[in-house]
Amino acid sequence: MNQDWEQDLEICLEYGDRRMEFGGSVIPPTFGGSLFVFDSTDKLTKAVMNEQGNYVYTRGTNPTIETAEMKLSALERGEQCRCFSSGMAAITAALFNSVKTGDHVLCISNLYFSTMELLKYLNKFGISHSVCYETDAAEVETYIQPNTTVIFIESPSYMTFRLTNLNAITSMAKKRGIRTIMDNTWATPLFQKPLLHGVDIVVHSLSKYLGGHSDLVGGAVIAGKQIMGTLFTKEFLLMGAAFSPYEASLLLRGLRSLPYRIKGHQENALKVAAFLEGHLRVLEVLYPGLPPHPDYELGKKLLTGYTGLMGFTVDGGYKEVKRVLDRLRHIKIGVSWGSFESLALSPNTGNNDQQLLSENIHPGTIRLAVGLGDSERIIRDLDQALD
Ligand code: PLP
Repeated sequence: MNQDWEQDLEICLEYGDRRMEFGGSVIPPTFGGSLFVFDSTDKLTKAVMNEQGNYVYTRGTNPTIETAEMKLSALERGEQCRCFSSGMAAITAALFNSVKTGDHVLCISNLYFSTMELLKYLNKFGISHSVCYETDAAEVETYIQPNTTVIFIESPSYMTFRLTNLNAITSMAKKRGIRTIMDNTWATPLFQKPLLHGVDIVVHSLSKYLGGHSDLVGGAVIAGKQIMGTLFTKEFLLMGAAFSPYEASLLLRGLRSLPYRIKGHQENALKVAAFLEGHLRVLEVLYPGLPPHPDYELGKKLLTGYTGLMGFTVDGGYKEVKRVLDRLRHIKIGVSWGSFESLALSPNTGNNDQQLLSENIHPGTIRLAVGLGDSERIIRDLDQALD
């Protein structure tokens, strides 16, 4: 067992649980209270002056949510973490903390579509963005504008599953005083630690592998103390997209089995991807865990494992995509991913081929979230749907 994995296992299982502080409870209790009381005005005033370090009100700090935050920042090897009511709330907070009117955000490759929608919305406040589909640092540098203040990365990229050379991009960004934000939801901190590659802010949707049971929606931001200090008092407290202590206890439960679940997703996904690679009707498999992938070698430097989300392309556009999806039986059609169930969908909605092509997405793309069911059953289902 390598040292990182051993440390991560301990973090998932018990780090931050503070058993003796909570009466020896083997799991951290769920503190459902919305506020915390004090026995004097002086104590309350002191606590309010430093809300980040005291339990005052659950929109700010709460012991159950704090345990989850301690685990997530330790897993990412970061200094501090804040949990939010959704991944999008976390992404919004990270972006709002990093830009002002007149700034430009450079997106590397494809980002989650709501992140792109948010960036389009920010035009209203005079914040512009552009997308660079090149992942090589020298190429990316040519896309930097004088007002670029943020580079936003999702690696592997949304729908296309291309990887970004993090070290090269972050060292170029640092030289230019540009902040880097990375969505690390796909890999989870168990398989990729972007802060160790120089990224400034990591964001997560907790609704995927970290929760892992399709029963919660949440998000997290992890960064150094300086960034998190301003983010706490502004984007976190004022936007008010607080995580719930009840969902935090579900997250803590999910985290305890994360190392084993993630290995199960990897084992199944590698088998499914190998099957798809050999299928006559599959044009391309979009999964960085197998050697035909253009970023396979880069992946070996960045990732210590591969999760269950992948894409594959078929010929025949929307008609064929719909035919394959509608024939699936074991694999369900649905949004989201990262849980026990296998899911599939296509970004093709029947009338957006041109838009997909302009975003480097093949119109015959099917996104597949390989779950924890029997791999032979998943493969049989794909086989009958494709044939
Ligand atoms: N980031 C990625 C890569 C996602 O796939 C998603 C949701 O699908 C999000 C962020 C947003 O997370 P949430 O749905 O928790 O707001």
